[in-house]
Amino acid sequence: MVEDLGCKVNHAEAEAVARRLAGRGVRIIDGHRGAGHRVAADLVVINTCTVTSIADQKSRQAVRRARRANPDAEIVVAGCSVAVDPAPFAAADPAARLVDARTTGALDAELDALLAADGPLPTAWGVEPAAPAPIPGERTRAYVKVQDGCSFHCTYCVIPRARGPERSLTPDAVLEDVRAALARGRREIVLTGINIGTYDGGDSAPGPRGSHAWEALSLAGLIGRILAETPVERLRLPSIEAQHVTDELLDVWAASGGRCLPHFHVPLQAGDDGTLRRMGRRYDTAGYAAVMRRIRRIVPDAALHADVIVGFPTEDEAAWRRSVEFIEAIGFAGLHVFRYSPRPGTPAVRMAGQVDEARRRARAEELLAVAARLRRTWAARQVGRMLSVLFEEPAPGGGSDWVGHAGNHTLVEAGASDGRTLANVIARVAVERLAGDGDRVAGRCDEFVASATVEA
Ligand code: SF4
Repeated sequence: MVEDLGCKVNHAEAEAVARRLAGRGVRIIDGHRGAGHRVAADLVVINTCTVTSIADQKSRQAVRRARRANPDAEIVVAGCSVAVDPAPFAAADPAARLVDARTTGALDAELDALLAADGPLPTAWGVEPAAPAPIPGERTRAYVKVQDGCSFHCTYCVIPRARGPERSLTPDAVLEDVRAALARGRREIVLTGINIGTYDGGDSAPGPRGSHAWEALSLAGLIGRILAETPVERLRLPSIEAQHVTDELLDVWAASGGRCLPHFHVPLQAGDDGTLRRMGRRYDTAGYAAVMRRIRRIVPDAALHADVIVGFPTEDEAAWRRSVEFIEAIGFAGLHVFRYSPRPGTPAVRMAGQVDEARRRARAEELLAVAARLRRTWAARQVGRMLSVLFEEPAPGGGSDWVGHAGNHTLVEAGASDGRTLANVIARVAVERLAGDGDRVAGRCDEFVASATVEA
């Protein structure tokens, strides 16, 4: 193990595979060290991504690279890209085991079959853990998958074909994963899913109306149960569709006493109604703006982030200008900018009015400049505030400062006056000034927050 490409769901799945293998006694080694240090593995698992044509390409390269470095290994290829189009992977490595992500449990079954075979336990490809943990990629926060698949069929998106229709994990399964992550010392839980707002409790029995079990059949109810039944300190959502930001969900946020973090990533994709309609999105700009206002009213100072696709077919100059104006007017704290990438088999590839690559690039550059300005504006607003920060790694430059994310996702640098290491430490930081390119802040630690005691 464990190479994951793409989104937080892929990351959560890769971490779960690493844990599962480590739990079966498989030694995890580092596949990303310099070539001179590379250790051949007996088993490599690659979780592929198909969100763009570049992601497909990188996924195939990862498989070829893994085979070159590990000629005799069992190579298991899972994730979205191989589910949508297995042929290029079969061509890249005829000996690889290809897993279809649309079949629930297919990857686990494949690994179980490999581990059940006679012979010594395999050495997987990943990051060598300092015994007995941590698991590769997991240091301060854990990604806990609560939902998979999507039935929305936006006209540019191939994910529903890769992942199949929506399905949810039961609240009990989610709670077990949350408790296990907290027991491993993770101080922040990020709930992940392909379309997380469709969470419906999976095949759990609803129980009597008004009971916890019944409430947990929605995302808000699930989060209510996590807050009530675990000592989680920080809970974050990576991304949620605008129409799923319900009053019920925001009420849970408001009542959480700061444990639900003031950060909402709500994909926008375009700030023009015609483009949104042709994208098959289920809101218009007025509806989206109303959601942003509601978040700000109920969770004051929440950071609002969004994804935007530039150069979608039919996005002419007038639509593009409307989109930029709308984005500026919302005043996001950050943007993820994607150039439209035609995905085979989607309705968008057949639309008239395709935008050429040069214009897609130019629009991406323009929007990235807007995003950088919005990030700096957001950072400047944090100066003088007290932020709760989870520290992750030493700050660049080799000093004694550390870097971490505040609850509102602002990047913060600070050090402890006694020079202690701040790895996986939560502290209240008095923000004093802008740092980096003005898109992060620096300050001093005012108070450290003890970790909650957690039973496995
Ligand atoms: S909501 Fe739309 S963009 Fe998101 S995974 Fe589903 S189809 Fe794709």
